[in-house]
Amino acid sequence: MKSITRQKTFEEIKAQLERFDRPYIIGCGTCTTMTKTGGIDQVLEMKNRLQEINKRVSGWSVIPIACDEMTEIAMKENRKAIQDANCILVMTCALGVHRIGQYIDRPVIPALDTLFIAVEDTPGFFREVCAQCGQCILGETAGICPVTMCHKSLVNGPCGGTNNGKCEVDREKDCAWTLIYQKLKDQGRLELMRKYHSPRNYQIEPRPRMVKIS
Ligand code: SF4
Ligand code: SF4
Repeated sequence: MKSITRQKTFEEIKAQLERFDRPYIIGCGTCTTMTKTGGIDQVLEMKNRLQEINKRVSGWSVIPIACDEMTEIAMKENRKAIQDANCILVMTCALGVHRIGQYIDRPVIPALDTLFIAVEDTPGFFREVCAQCGQCILGETAGICPVTMCHKSLVNGPCGGTNNGKCEVDREKDCAWTLIYQKLKDQGRLELMRKYHSPRNYQIEPRPRMVKIS
């Protein structure tokens, strides 16, 4: 499982840094290194670009796993340069941004957009498989997730646009509900196509969602 990110445009990063002239840059040695959005090479490239626009980068580091609790120790090791900065530019997924923000009173600025959680099918090819919706219906959809595989995240069968098994939004892509139909048919469970999934009740799921494991 990997957290998939995309770098914000430099213009957007520049706008976020408008009030700050001394950023410290943090990347992540795991997901954003793998996706080439926040590894050593990208952090150094960002450092150079910021220096070109007269930012005085106080330092940089790539933390092995920016979203875990060891991040606090890694930040202590770089305390001097971090304290010298007036903001932290974070080149990790949003989990890393949250984690880093817990250990520093400086503003944390995300340089990346966090897109989705994915599995790697083949080297370098990541596919979104779950949106962590909290109401998993894979048991009734033959193991194919309509929330992530259908362009409209429909959970009660296909839209009217499916055409010869292809999606109306992207004709290169198989319609998720056609795949679900075919697989349920193969499994002799076609009656599940008629099962109605009621709208989500957001009242019973107040955010932020929390869980206590005892
Ligand atoms: S239905 Fe899809 S998005 Fe929701 S929990 Fe199951 S796999 Fe994840
Ligand atoms: S064609 Fe299929 S995959 Fe595309 S939006 Fe409609 S139901 Fe979803």
